[in-house]
Amino acid sequence: MEGKSTSLFSHWEKTVFFDKIDLVIIGGGIVGTNAAIRLKELHPGWKIVILERGTLPLGASTRNAGFACFGSMTELLDDLENQNQKEVFDLLERRWKGLQRLRQRVGDQQLNYYNYGAYELFHASEEYEFKQCMDKLEAFNQVLKEITGIEEVFEVKDQRIKDFGLAGIKHLIYNKAEGQLNPGRMMQELWKLARSMEIEIHCGVEVNQLQNHDGGVKLWCNERLQFSAARALLATNGFTKRLFPHLEVLPARNQVLITKPVSALKLKGCFHYDKGYYYFRNVGDRILLGGGRNLAKEEEQTDEFGHTDIIQNKLKQLLSEMILPDNPFEIDHWWSGILGVGPKKAPIVERIEPNIFTAVRLGGMGVAIGTLVGEQAAEYITDIV
Ligand SMILES: Cc1cc2nc3c(=O)[nH]c(=O)nc-3n(C[C@H](O)[C@H](O)[C@H](O)COP(=O)(O)OP(=O)(O)OC[C@H]3O[C@@H](n4cnc5c(N)ncnc54)[C@H](O)[C@@H]3O)c2cc1C
Repeated sequence: MEGKSTSLFSHWEKTVFFDKIDLVIIGGGIVGTNAAIRLKELHPGWKIVILERGTLPLGASTRNAGFACFGSMTELLDDLENQNQKEVFDLLERRWKGLQRLRQRVGDQQLNYYNYGAYELFHASEEYEFKQCMDKLEAFNQVLKEITGIEEVFEVKDQRIKDFGLAGIKHLIYNKAEGQLNPGRMMQELWKLARSMEIEIHCGVEVNQLQNHDGGVKLWCNERLQFSAARALLATNGFTKRLFPHLEVLPARNQVLITKPVSALKLKGCFHYDKGYYYFRNVGDRILLGGGRNLAKEEEQTDEFGHTDIIQNKLKQLLSEMILPDNPFEIDHWWSGILGVGPKKAPIVERIEPNIFTAVRLGGMGVAIGTLVGEQAAEYITDIV
């Protein structure tokens, strides 16, 4: 006899794994997972399911540089050009608080968190930019003292240029309150915590379409899986346009490399260069380096992973000429990740349809604010239902 519906999924799978779901979260990165954890705290009886299309999160959360950072001086100055002071300092505070919340949730040891500080580099040709930072140093330190409780967060440390073996750099501004962590460990621990709270995470499930339906949400996925849930949260960041093209979240690819261990490596900490377009850090005795999106903005506005010669060549040049001029090195591995960016440096946490919510557009700061954005989405959904 002919059945009503055909699917790759069995009756058992459909009725056990995809039935009576109170909240489905699309995307298992830092935002989706934190939203799930907070919602489970608020609604212990809810069935919460995370759908992740990758075997592991396949976006930015396990592919980033692991800077536990809240803003270099030029980045803050740049933000002040485009947004008002309150918005900029509020975001600064959220980044700081988000990092503290992440460290509290997961634990420094589990995160491989190290407080080595961060440095912003200035070339001789950037004397004007350096001077602008100097003019604001005291004022920024005052704001940061109010936010972090730490005195003199920023200070000039030009003497370390030689210690680190950097070439072609004239000034360094040190930020003593920034650290570094291991994004793989971060997500491994967050998934472990989520699973310990009976949040189900299904990998390899890609949502192709979702819409409001009959007081809930209907979802269509790969492998002909269809099911309904009471509500859905999109935590799809740079891939959001594939589902809702009208949302202002543009994908931005970032290419990254890591070297093999470098003997007698002198660098330790996180480094921001060229207004944050390039970033590098030590990972033990290796160097991780990424960025260069400004060299080919249009080409990098993609949600496809991959590499280009122009960016790879520039990163190799920076390594040999500026970062490791005196150390022989070999590149071990390249990868790329996808950011979600937009005209404003602010995440979109909102209801877009009666039972569909978003927590997307984390820009280059999701390690810092991802925990709070996930939690904010959870509380927002709770207020509405
Ligand atoms: C190379 C790189 C370096 C970075 N460095 C830093 C840094 O040092 N410090 C910092 O603070 N931030 C950094 N960031 C930014 C930070 O990683 C991101 O802001 C953050 O990870 C975003 O988290 P998310 O959960 O919103 O998105 P993501 O981690 O991208 O998660 C979204 C998830 O949704 C899944 N998904 C998408 N569509 C679907 C679908 N239809 N069905 C099912 N699943 C789907 C994806 O597979 C993905 O796993 C960096 C980003 C990149 C790419």
